[in-house]
Amino acid sequence: MSKITYLDYNATTPIDDRVLDVMLPYFKEKYANPSSKYRFAMDIAADVEKARTIIANCLGASKSEEIIFTASATESVNHAIRGTLKTHPDKKHIITTAVEHPAVLDTCKDLERDGYKVTFLPVNNKGELSIDDFTNAITKDTAIISIMHANNETGVVFPIDKLSKIAKQENPDVIFHTDATQSIGKIKIDMNKEYNNIDLLSMSGHKIYAPKGVGILFARTGSRLRKFITGGHHEFNKRAGTLNVPLIIGMAKAFQILDEELKEKKQEKLSVLISRIEEEISKKIPYITINGKGAQRLSNTTNISFDCIEGESILFQLDKLGFCISSGSACTSGSLEPSHVLRAMQVPITSAHSSLRISLGRFTKEEEVAAFIETLPTIISRLREISPFWDKKNNKPNDKAIQYSCQS
Ligand code: PLP
Repeated sequence: MSKITYLDYNATTPIDDRVLDVMLPYFKEKYANPSSKYRFAMDIAADVEKARTIIANCLGASKSEEIIFTASATESVNHAIRGTLKTHPDKKHIITTAVEHPAVLDTCKDLERDGYKVTFLPVNNKGELSIDDFTNAITKDTAIISIMHANNETGVVFPIDKLSKIAKQENPDVIFHTDATQSIGKIKIDMNKEYNNIDLLSMSGHKIYAPKGVGILFARTGSRLRKFITGGHHEFNKRAGTLNVPLIIGMAKAFQILDEELKEKKQEKLSVLISRIEEEISKKIPYITINGKGAQRLSNTTNISFDCIEGESILFQLDKLGFCISSGSACTSGSLEPSHVLRAMQVPITSAHSSLRISLGRFTKEEEVAAFIETLPTIISRLREISPFWDKKNNKPNDKAIQYSCQS
């Protein structure tokens, strides 16, 4: 394969070698089923419990039993939302936001078809929620509130610590769930300190340098949750299915590494690189918008719209040169619809169609960022030259572009 410049860490991360190394014995010699009752298996069960304790400590959980291993963040989200609703059959209201990942959004839309009333909270043009809108949406009938911590497309961070506190003040019975898939490892989360009003949290291994196919549902002691995957009595009778031991062991190692990195403030290096991208691209390319600018954002993510061209054509040109970048989220990028997140932020349709999400991570090198900054302006100006919305002579959008944009 020719040279790859990977700038899409929000889509997935490579497995860290240190994670892979601790997993390998569990693919080979340590293969017993941890539910079996002989020493060979019980030693492996003990290793799983050690892994659970490591993760519980990293998240500030009070007990290791609060960590349930799943197969993905999507499964954790479904378990959290559907499992809560099943144990609160008298309540029919859900609150979420218009900018959630499809894991939450589509689950809520599906529940709407089953008769639930869902409030999809809007965001402003920076991608932020209104605290008043949020507070006013909570009623006695609200069973669960599901609000993501950090947005996968823009990196905008919601103040879930404050929101969950308000939620409990307004309605002490309400259950607060957060999809923290993009924030784990980028923001320190302590479920026993400022995040102590959050009942349920979902996350995924493949965003934190562990493998795909493993997730976690944090369920605070006392949370009433109907089982989502039924069968055996695994995971304290909360999630059935033989434990995926190598992936669980890998997940714990990934958490340990993240914890060290958070202590060493390694994320700051990424924020320097993201600022460099935003400053240089703003200088070199006219008619761009940095989506979410001015809001609290993850240090590794930027989302930029380029007026008058299609995001897909930029991606295609970048891909030919080995750059891996997304337009919108990986899960929705198969669709030609503009991103629901940018539309919710009232980004004009012409810009929403042309957005690139650049997300950096542990192995991003300065030279890669420099190469991206060097390459992009030529691609954009070539595409604008052939765009029906670009005034080539004056190097600005033409009247058609303004008209089209206004129609949005
Ligand atoms: N939630 C967010 C915010 C995400 O970014 C993703 C993955 O892109 C998911 C949920 C789904 O994660 P998984 O692939 O583990 O199901």
